[in-house]
Amino acid sequence: MENYDDTFNEDFADDFSEHRVKRPGLLVLMAGVGTSVATLALLYVLNIVSPDLYVMGWYANGVIPIGAMLVGLVAGSGYGIASWLTGAKIGKGLLIQIVLLQLLVYMFSQYVHFLVITAPFDNVPFSFWEFFDRETRAFAWNNDGQPGEPFGIWGYGMLALEMAGFSLCAMIAPAILFAVPYCEACQVYMKSTELGLLPAGIAPRKIKKKDTEGQQAYEEELKQAMESGQKRMETLLESVNEKDPQQFVDLLSEHADNKKAINKQTSRLAVSLEHCKQCQSGRVVLKVQCGFGENQTVTELARIDIEPEFTRDVISFRKR
Ligand SMILES: [Zn+2]
Repeated sequence: MENYDDTFNEDFADDFSEHRVKRPGLLVLMAGVGTSVATLALLYVLNIVSPDLYVMGWYANGVIPIGAMLVGLVAGSGYGIASWLTGAKIGKGLLIQIVLLQLLVYMFSQYVHFLVITAPFDNVPFSFWEFFDRETRAFAWNNDGQPGEPFGIWGYGMLALEMAGFSLCAMIAPAILFAVPYCEACQVYMKSTELGLLPAGIAPRKIKKKDTEGQQAYEEELKQAMESGQKRMETLLESVNEKDPQQFVDLLSEHADNKKAINKQTSRLAVSLEHCKQCQSGRVVLKVQCGFGENQTVTELARIDIEPEFTRDVISFRKR
């Protein structure tokens, strides 16, 4: 039982210290709701000034609520911006809260619309929900400026599409930050830096099919280039593992001036650094790029954690 208590206390202390550093939720949520309300208010005013401009009503192929999705994307930008600026990591729980909040914001905007419409009357003969139901059932396409047949109960289907488009697209900006490297210890987003390219291929050239000798030579060249690329990769990883930043930087600077030529090779090794600006801890990421343009494939070969000292040395050596 004693052991159990100890673990419990330690966990509790960890939890406590984690929460003490930064509470991610509230500020991020407030910022997102802020940009959402501002976006919807702006659209509302725009719609009054120019009645033909009803962005929420834009649909592609009759079912894809492009307008609502666009509005949702802009509305939700506040969640992402606040997360980026404060370093508050967006977790799965927060993403779910965002979707729910956006649904509320959407309903709130409908309620404000109801208040504006009914403001001139002393006695409103219908409730918000009656109004909402009527508006939803009245959904219709405009044909050459003339309203078509109302959708009736199917209007709720269109409403569902619109609300889903609006709420889910609000997740796009914050979800992008999911992929950004993050320092758990300092609770900030890390900085990614491209350190350079190492050759691992040759400049491609066309050889006639009949020219078997030429083809053989070409393949041999390719093979050798890949082998030396492999060796470079090994040396690079070795320098990271041996904590030898000088060798690491030397290898990169050796090829720094040939970046353009290396970029035209059949395959090349891309080296990058992800590091925390506060504690300087981070990792070296090594990827191999093959092919060009649309046919390019990128495969991650290694991701090695590095200590603050290595990061500092690499950054300072590079500046020289
Ligand atoms: Zn850190």
